[in-house]
Amino acid sequence: MHFSWELSGSGWATCKIWDGSTKHRDIVSYCTNALADLLKGVTGLYGPDDVQRFSFDLEPAEARWILRRRNSDVHITIRRFPDMSTSVDTPDGKGTPVWTSTRPRASLAHAVLAAAEQVLRIHGEDGYLHKWRLHAFPTTELETLRRLHLAADDCALQH
Ligand SMILES: [Zn+2]
Repeated sequence: MHFSWELSGSGWATCKIWDGSTKHRDIVSYCTNALADLLKGVTGLYGPDDVQRFSFDLEPAEARWILRRRNSDVHITIRRFPDMSTSVDTPDGKGTPVWTSTRPRASLAHAVLAAAEQVLRIHGEDGYLHKWRLHAFPTTELETLRRLHLAADDCALQH
């Protein structure tokens, strides 16, 4: 499982996910606090709710991530809606599924954490704010997910 989040230009991030067989890529706008929403969504997989949802604004499309926990695995579906300004309350089934995979929660959390840690290493908090403009780097969300992942998943990889 690989995941990357690269600040590709002022106000844009390139989000890539691949599971070894299929890849997906979106260009995400700074209109929402997207990296924070991603970290919070994955963090939610350590709480009582089995389903987490969050959306990235692709201007104008919406990329909606739906994470369903099944025992120690997570079923990930990314659905695309043509216009985020009208689709936020639209049921999942109306969107076009563009990528799906089932991975261990530990793998997903590790990949997302590693990507966020990489962003912080490259840009720092000041550099991040300079590029993402509307939102600060989600330091608290990153630390919360790291703490839960390390405590619950017994991760032997480096952080
Ligand atoms: Zn890890």
